[in-house]
Amino acid sequence: MARGARRAKSPFRAALAPLYALDISWRPGRTGMGTLVDIDRREKLLDEGLDLDGLELCAVASGLFQEGDPHGYEEVLEAIGMMQHCPTSSALYVAIWKLLSLSGWVGDFGHCWHCGEAVDEAMAMNWHAYQLACHACGKGMVISAGMRKGITAQFIDSDVGSNVRLSKNDLLCWQRMIQDVLKQHGLKAPSIINEELS
Ligand SMILES: [Zn+2]
Repeated sequence: MARGARRAKSPFRAALAPLYALDISWRPGRTGMGTLVDIDRREKLLDEGLDLDGLELCAVASGLFQEGDPHGYEEVLEAIGMMQHCPTSSALYVAIWKLLSLSGWVGDFGHCWHCGEAVDEAMAMNWHAYQLACHACGKGMVISAGMRKGITAQFIDSDVGSNVRLSKNDLLCWQRMIQDVLKQHGLKAPSIINEELS
């Protein structure tokens, strides 16, 4: 807890701007997070144009990792780091997918999540019952070979990823997959994901 941080004269006020790395010291509480005693603000984590996406990512992360859970900080930092290297249009998708993947909620685009079989990269797959499935395991929204390749590229190599732009249709499909996975776990997808493509 940052006591009085919203007050105009609080020394915490400026330092607690979102999306900066911070060195913090706090007094442990008997329960909960304890009390903030000192902050040293360090580098900004995202370029200016990605601020809104960064805040949306934090909102999703706060649902994924509940208060008291020691996990989440490194995962969010890793996801934010990836946003800098992708095309702006897909940065939030990449970052949320990375978080979902680190949480074990989604698999990769090279295997069927039902039977575990590797699927040839020239084949389309299906989004079936909130999972990516081979043709034998399920029918549903078609995930084309190009989309599988395009998304995978964004995660394998940041230099390659930055050159791969996903089509609007691919982004719409990916958006639905993200919404499905979040919904399945009782979380709401950030609104920017809906608005950007409409
Ligand atoms: Zn399968």
